[in-house]
Amino acid sequence: MALTGIEIFKLLPKINCKKCGFPTCLAFAMKVAQGQADIEQCPEASEQVKAKLKEAATPPIRGFVFGPQNKSIKIGEEQCLFRHEKKFFNPTVLALKIKDTDSNIDEKVNTVLNSQIERVGEILKIDAIFLENESNDPSRFKEAAEKIVKAQIPLILGTFTPNSADLVLNDLSEIRAVIYGASELNIDEMVSIAKKYNVPLTVTAKGIEKVIPLVEKIQSLGFEEILIDTKPETAIELLTDNTLIRRASLKKRVKSLGYPVLTLLREQDPFYETVLACLAILKYSSIVVLNEITGWKNLVLFTLRQNIYSDPQVPMQVKQDIYKVGEPDASSPIIVTTNFALTYFLVKGEIENSKVPAWLAIMDCDGLSVLTAWAAGKFSASKIAQFIKESGIEEKLNHRELIIPGYVAMLKGAIEDKLPGWRVIVGTKEASGIPAFLRNYIRSKE
Ligand code: SF4
Repeated sequence: MALTGIEIFKLLPKINCKKCGFPTCLAFAMKVAQGQADIEQCPEASEQVKAKLKEAATPPIRGFVFGPQNKSIKIGEEQCLFRHEKKFFNPTVLALKIKDTDSNIDEKVNTVLNSQIERVGEILKIDAIFLENESNDPSRFKEAAEKIVKAQIPLILGTFTPNSADLVLNDLSEIRAVIYGASELNIDEMVSIAKKYNVPLTVTAKGIEKVIPLVEKIQSLGFEEILIDTKPETAIELLTDNTLIRRASLKKRVKSLGYPVLTLLREQDPFYETVLACLAILKYSSIVVLNEITGWKNLVLFTLRQNIYSDPQVPMQVKQDIYKVGEPDASSPIIVTTNFALTYFLVKGEIENSKVPAWLAIMDCDGLSVLTAWAAGKFSASKIAQFIKESGIEEKLNHRELIIPGYVAMLKGAIEDKLPGWRVIVGTKEASGIPAFLRNYIRSKE
């Protein structure tokens, strides 16, 4: 279990010698707890203390990568039960299930490739394909796997037939596919295949009690790259199993449960499947396998996953700069706002919708939204004026009109005082009003 700052502090010499680069042992302990400093920076700590802290820092949930080398995905290594305690590290992998008997494998592969969207500056997509060996024919399984590998999509091999897994991995070992899975009927053969090709192996059985002895057997065979599927059939089973696994691995260091969870959804109703997938993202599944993907479902899951896996202590933000939207020229309008990522992407998107090329002045306000930044004194008249003056935008414009967000209309006079020669125009409160506002603004100049 990771130690708190106070627990680490108790182990330190408490002499405040500053050799670690921090003013006090307590300050250093807090940074070690946050993962922002290493115990090796303290030359006064004993070897015993260093060993104890390193043991505590070892992730209680194993992590590993799978997929083609240039598109590999990392899963596991989570360190907390609740996001606000620290953060969640490796986002849930969303995979689409395809059967090797499907007549439209190419079409489904393309659906996965085309699932990509950009949101708040991040690329979000369906990450992997779970290929089910429904035919039970190793050759047919391999033929289908080759199509997925050709598309460079990370692959999970859904087969309980050792020969099928062996045949695919023999020719395609470089893709580092996950095998699903090992059951009590095939565990020895599957472990030897996973070891032979050095790929992760999913152990599957109904319920935690049946999974544990299988995991212990795999561990005894000297293999550690394991995923767990307890085969939950209802929302309550999914929630209970995943929570018990996470709690046992983090709080009790139960080594047989310290592995990422794979959730294979068996629900055919698309709405209920989406609800279960949301639950799995919220509660600890590292891989979720979906029966189908559609635009609306992807948006729900992508957005939830992005929010859950952002760092709660770091606002999503973009770099301070004057951004071009379209091909603005000297007469184009200039809009100023804060560098909260969601604000930036909403405002940029609505300027694009307006078809009016513009300059978008994004000011560093520590990633806060407009009203919050204003309340915190980070989006004040003097700071906006200073930003505009120092940005160099004046040299690119043949006008002196600055559009500010409607929420800070009260800054108009103060900004004009600080920016002599400029006229401040109050824009809309909501980004959705920008297209109409800009079109009117341009018409008023004609
Ligand atoms: Fe404390 Fe070690 Fe830092 Fe010295 S080097 S202040 S003993 S933590």
